[in-house]
Amino acid sequence: MKKYDFIIVGAGLFGSVFAQQMNQKGRKCLVIDKRPNIAGNVYSKEIEGIQVHKYGPHIFHTADKKVWDYIQQFAQFNHFHYEPVANYKGELYSLPFNMNTFHQMWGVVTPKEAEEELERQRAEFLARRPKGNEPENLEEQALGLIGRDLYEKLIKGYTEKQWGRPCVVLPAFIIRRLPVRFRYDNNYFNDPYQGIPIGGYTQMVEKMLAGVEVKLGCDYLDDKKFYNSLAENIVYTGPIDAYFNDCYGSLEYRSLRFETEIHDKDNYQGCAGMNFTDSDTPYTRIVEHKHFEFGKGNPGKTVITKEYPLEWKAGSLEHGSLEHGSLEHGSLEPYYPVNDAKNQALYEKYSRLAKQECNVIFGGRLAEYKYYDMDKVIKRALDTSGQIV
Ligand code: UDP
Repeated sequence: MKKYDFIIVGAGLFGSVFAQQMNQKGRKCLVIDKRPNIAGNVYSKEIEGIQVHKYGPHIFHTADKKVWDYIQQFAQFNHFHYEPVANYKGELYSLPFNMNTFHQMWGVVTPKEAEEELERQRAEFLARRPKGNEPENLEEQALGLIGRDLYEKLIKGYTEKQWGRPCVVLPAFIIRRLPVRFRYDNNYFNDPYQGIPIGGYTQMVEKMLAGVEVKLGCDYLDDKKFYNSLAENIVYTGPIDAYFNDCYGSLEYRSLRFETEIHDKDNYQGCAGMNFTDSDTPYTRIVEHKHFEFGKGNPGKTVITKEYPLEWKAGSLEHGSLEHGSLEHGSLEPYYPVNDAKNQALYEKYSRLAKQECNVIFGGRLAEYKYYDMDKVIKRALDTSGQIV
């Protein structure tokens, strides 16, 4: 008999939901994480009375009532709606693409006028390519969906900065997340349930992990044998290529360098997220955290974070951030899998190896090499744990 039924590697959403479910079923779990904190990339930390989303903005949204009901056991959600603003060289546009954006871009007022202009631009693009072909890359997807003006000003620069690759080599699905609507409606998401956990994500994950043993600052891959000897089963949520010692070569990930600054003012930019969609501004967006829970925070203070995208390499360190007056520095994390054809093929090879690993469950954005939203990760963890009797 081993000490634990499960050792769960990673205290992010997949690991924490899985641990919560198994703990509820009376299984003995140990959650370990190499970071000094729980909650993985949804970790939030209070600065100046404001919950700062340390690893990028996380807005919870879902169409899945079961996931919504599940998550509310651990936090009360506010009614925050994400309405980011795109800043293209000082010209401001509403996101996602909706009547406000079309009015700002072309001066059109009615849905009919907007549809006609979009149709004209789409037709220009479609006339030059064989009929019936599926978009082969992100640029084709964008031009066929929203036409050249919106693509050039709101997608191309941002996407190429974010992913570090030309749009013509990126997979189309990346921007299928962005809605196009003919209503004056700036809500970034279509999902019926949306909000931010009042008091922060860390508190929410703490509640999930209540009664579960957690050890922080422990790297599973440093001593796999030791951890395996302690548990019947492993749940691994780290990068799948690292689990197998990069035996087929490394998968590519995009990372972000965050520069967080405190400003002596109540309101810096008037919205939670401003996207800088030109190619010259080196950061992709500025997040002003107090807007997620407006009314919170010390008077006369606000906290903002600039996101600088960059390629992730194993062991790479964030540098230079302190010189820029940033509050944090440390190791870079692999945030976004690059799901292009080359990486996807490599992932499939690792995935086949993973299937042969008895007693190991691979789950979450890094272990499944998938650009998951939070609700999908939760669903996956609920389904996976649900199969274990
Ligand atoms: N995107 C863009 N312009 C924007 C916002 C998003 O081109 O102003 C594209 C970009 O390729 C990005 C993708 O849409 O990677 C998905 O954006 P989302 O905001 O959902 O990304 P996340 O918050 O996960 O970084």
